[in-house]
Amino acid sequence: MLPDIITTIAELRERLEAAQRAGRTIGFVPTMGALHAGHASLIRAARTENDLVAVSIFVNPTQFGPNEDLAHYPRPIEADQQLCGAVGTDIIFAPSVEEMYPARFCTWISVEGLMEGLCAESRPGHFRGVATVVLKLFNIMQADVAYFGQKDYQQARIIVQMARDLNVPTNVRVLPTVRESDGLAMSSRNQYLDPVQRRHATVLYRTLEEAKRLAAAGERDVKRLEEALAAPIRATPGTRLDYARIVDLDMLRPIERLENPALAALAVCFGTTRLIDNAQLIPSQNGRS
Ligand code: AMP
Repeated sequence: MLPDIITTIAELRERLEAAQRAGRTIGFVPTMGALHAGHASLIRAARTENDLVAVSIFVNPTQFGPNEDLAHYPRPIEADQQLCGAVGTDIIFAPSVEEMYPARFCTWISVEGLMEGLCAESRPGHFRGVATVVLKLFNIMQADVAYFGQKDYQQARIIVQMARDLNVPTNVRVLPTVRESDGLAMSSRNQYLDPVQRRHATVLYRTLEEAKRLAAAGERDVKRLEEALAAPIRATPGTRLDYARIVDLDMLRPIERLENPALAALAVCFGTTRLIDNAQLIPSQNGRS
């Protein structure tokens, strides 16, 4: 069955309050639409763990920079509604920009320490927009559990921290990255890639796997590991490396040696399409220096 698309906060609240009064738990999956199997895995988890599943589809303008793809971001609402229905969504919340940001909107969320480095460097203001819209959606939904993907690791860390710091009563769950059969992390932006770029895009996954292998084999020098991450990308035609970094899992700060599990994170541009991916590096127990 196709889920209803609700566009106003008032109507959504009416539906959700009725469910909550009846003692039903709510699982919430925030998205920007152009849904794929990565989103579907979050929705399926919400379906398994809750009585009612709500998916938001909102291309949030405040998280896009002036030269980014806001105007071109794909908005295939009918296909999204189909996918949502196929994986058990009850309600789609698809508000207008005016509904989410009425005139004289003045309040912004800043999660200090986590909104620096990695994607924050090349996308100034991006995470402020993300955290603000997610807190608004949390307040609108009042869900029991909300689901995020590990593919956007920095985003997920920011949301978990914000929810903890501001006593948000929704539990935040972060689920593994879903990949294409050749390893490319699923992303709504993959559809911007031409066939040659699409073939080359597997370099992100391949170089992360190689870094994992090196770490497991005993390499602990982060400079060497970062170089090993970056080299295959620099060698791939038509790419521009935004960053290839290894940081601590908690506060995403640079580290010098891999003493504990850490995050290897990449951002790579293929023409105007910017892709990100990450993996956890686990040091070997008896590593060499
Ligand atoms: P987006 O629509 O890109 O804003 O993503 C909405 C949610 O889906 C975010 O929590 C993302 O981290 C998550 N997501 C996006 N791609 C994937 C993927 N390949 N695997 C798992 N989760 C994903």
